[in-house]
Amino acid sequence: MFKLVTIPGDGIGTEVVASALQVIDALKEKHDLEIEIEEHLFGGASYDVHGEMLTEETLEACKNCDAVLLGAVGGPKWENLPHEKKPEAALLKIRKELGLFANFRPAKVYDALVNASSLKPDILSGTDFMVIRELTGGIYFGQPRGYDDNRGWNTMVYEKYEVERIARLAFETAMKREKRLVSIDKANVLECSQFWRNIVHDVHKDYLEVELTDMYVDNAAMQVVRDPKQFDVIVTKNLFGDILSDISGMITGSLGMLPSASIGSRHALYEPIHGSAPDIAGRNKANPIATIASVAMMFEHSFSMQHIAGDIYTAIEKTLESGMRTADIANPGDSVASTTEITDAITANLEVS
Ligand code: NAD
Repeated sequence: MFKLVTIPGDGIGTEVVASALQVIDALKEKHDLEIEIEEHLFGGASYDVHGEMLTEETLEACKNCDAVLLGAVGGPKWENLPHEKKPEAALLKIRKELGLFANFRPAKVYDALVNASSLKPDILSGTDFMVIRELTGGIYFGQPRGYDDNRGWNTMVYEKYEVERIARLAFETAMKREKRLVSIDKANVLECSQFWRNIVHDVHKDYLEVELTDMYVDNAAMQVVRDPKQFDVIVTKNLFGDILSDISGMITGSLGMLPSASIGSRHALYEPIHGSAPDIAGRNKANPIATIASVAMMFEHSFSMQHIAGDIYTAIEKTLESGMRTADIANPGDSVASTTEITDAITANLEVS
């Protein structure tokens, strides 16, 4: 029996999580799975009822389950709240409280969407790599930090255990894939990066089957666009990963296609990359594929059911190959499917796969 907590949040968050739940229901039925699902309020939806974006009750529920599925939070209604009450603060808090130190973002190109990218199809076709970003250390959290009228300062610092645990996770991930890992740093300029590199090489001694390459972040940004197929797994620190995971994701197409997983020692949270998209919220227009692919990542990482994750990816692929498109991935002249129509098609393809 697995326990899943869903926190749909705001805007299209509620629509795409409803799609994900439809897919999970179909999988439960098909594979006779026991998954208990509990829904909780988060973000603006929680603020409107309880006066806070993240209640203790929601946080406790997230701490006492096998996986959390998050939709998206925020919207114009809550934009002018003080900083500490904003949805972004609640997002940072939930990640911190759950100890989610690694963020996984796949950059996978679906053949059917090879024309949706800004890159040439022959450069892109066959791209399938994973960016693993360290999420709770580095310059975003280092002390001292601040600014006055004359100076601004931040501190990039990593503890040995922080680099070791993310490196281990990256090698483990590479072992399950093509056994190639690129560690991205700026060791030619930053001492903190040289330290990162030394530790990654120490951990490598336990995973000699994996081919390890070091790459400077400036070169990596160029390589991701020049020849994305060369990568299998990338691991990098918080700041570089923030930038590289966005570049890597966007070369593959639309925001509506991009899933993610944030993993800690005991907890895991799955969510699409996109926000609450107030411009299309409530209109049955959102692309649910990012969230449905996040469910696939959940089956892979939290439930260790690779075959079900594979079924979900296959159902998404079949649906795209049939020509079905939501507005964000449609070409001019395509007929456009709604959120519920594409969810029904993916669910139907799951049932026959
Ligand atoms: P956004 O990701 O919500 O939307 C950007 C654009 O992409 C919009 O035009 C939107 O319609 C489109 N889009 C996004 N997801 C889509 C999908 N699944 N299908 C089709 N089109 C999609 O980013 P934004 O407009 O900058 O932010 C809107 C709100 O979301 C803000 O309040 C922001 O703070 C919040 N936000 C939340 C998260 C999160 O919950 N993790 C992430 C980013 C932004």
